[in-house]
Amino acid sequence: MFIERDVNSHKKVGTIEVIAGSMFSGKTEELIRRLKRAKFARQSVEIFKPTVDVRYSENEVVSHDENSIRSTPVENSANILLLSGNVDVVGIDEAQFFDKGLIEVVAKLANMGTRVIIAGLDMDFKGVPFGPIPGLMAIADYVTKVHAICVRCGSIAQFSHRFSEQEQVVLLGEKEAYEPLCRSCYIKATK
Ligand code: ZN
Repeated sequence: MFIERDVNSHKKVGTIEVIAGSMFSGKTEELIRRLKRAKFARQSVEIFKPTVDVRYSENEVVSHDENSIRSTPVENSANILLLSGNVDVVGIDEAQFFDKGLIEVVAKLANMGTRVIIAGLDMDFKGVPFGPIPGLMAIADYVTKVHAICVRCGSIAQFSHRFSEQEQVVLLGEKEAYEPLCRSCYIKATK
């Protein structure tokens, strides 16, 4: 079987791609699309997510439209490095929940020739840059910002407004707890 990456393995170059955006912006769908395309090209793919993200399924990256792909839950970023030997493409979902060590892990993987694709929330519900995502965006080769649609006015939305009373930052993706809002509607909603 002819596999191009084996022929050219001595000059394999890694890359870092970040897909960042608000809730309901299609981050995970875009991650899944890129990973499935790599699989079609017979590249080996591993997908990781933090153990904190257990809202629907233990072993799958599940997006809101239920387009899913198998993944491995890991406790921390160091585990990703340990489990990514000889993998062509590493996908990381819900990366905002990982420790900041993820930035170094991702850089190491890319330097070793791995293509790393990271999806995560760029801001928390307060509009503050979320966990390792800003650092990952800084070191990335490619950054894609995806947007949702504002549920109040139909403009492009980049904020994840939380309208429940709970104060826990690690509250996950249910529709009843978050809504995507544009800047103008977010300002009005949080006044
Ligand atoms: Zn709006």
